[in-house]
Amino acid sequence: MERTHHSMLGNGFATRFATKCGFERSDLKTRQAVEQYQEVKDEISDLDFDETLEALRNRDTNGTVGCVAAKPNGELAAATSTGGRSSQLAGRIGDSPQVGSGTYCDSQAAVSATGIGEAIIKTTLSRRCRDNITEGMSPKEAAEKAIEFLDTKTGREAGLIAVDANGSLGSYHNAEEMHTSRIEYG
Ligand code: ASP
Repeated sequence: MERTHHSMLGNGFATRFATKCGFERSDLKTRQAVEQYQEVKDEISDLDFDETLEALRNRDTNGTVGCVAAKPNGELAAATSTGGRSSQLAGRIGDSPQVGSGTYCDSQAAVSATGIGEAIIKTTLSRRCRDNITEGMSPKEAAEKAIEFLDTKTGREAGLIAVDANGSLGSYHNAEEMHTSRIEYG
């Protein structure tokens, strides 16, 4: 966003652009992820298309790191990095890169989400949390209200972290666990 006028690049072109910007390619696959992939591949190898879709439906693990930041002058930033849900169809796009769903940031609030991407997208969860903040809720209340909405609408699991322009932080999750930590600089 600093070097082009675009908001988002995708496909192999994003990789090419990152390389031009000086980022190095590296293989981020863990042994555990490779083993899990092989396990799923073996499990579905004899299934037809419909059976494969059914087998993959409820078989997944998540892994996302989200970050929200506020500077004393009120500048805000949000970032979300995910391995995505495992065992999903090739070509699936989750919530994390979708502005308003997995990530949202403007002058009012910075928000990052984790959990079941399809439910987060359906409820534009990060933007919903931000809107709650602009209506006067604390980031904690805003996150709780947004997650309650997702829970009622979809019955799925998610978590949110949020910060407002005053640097007030909040988080909430209906998933079994979500680890958070706070770091102060300067
Ligand atoms: N939200 C991510 C996705 O659905 C997964 C996660 O948060 O772990 O791709």
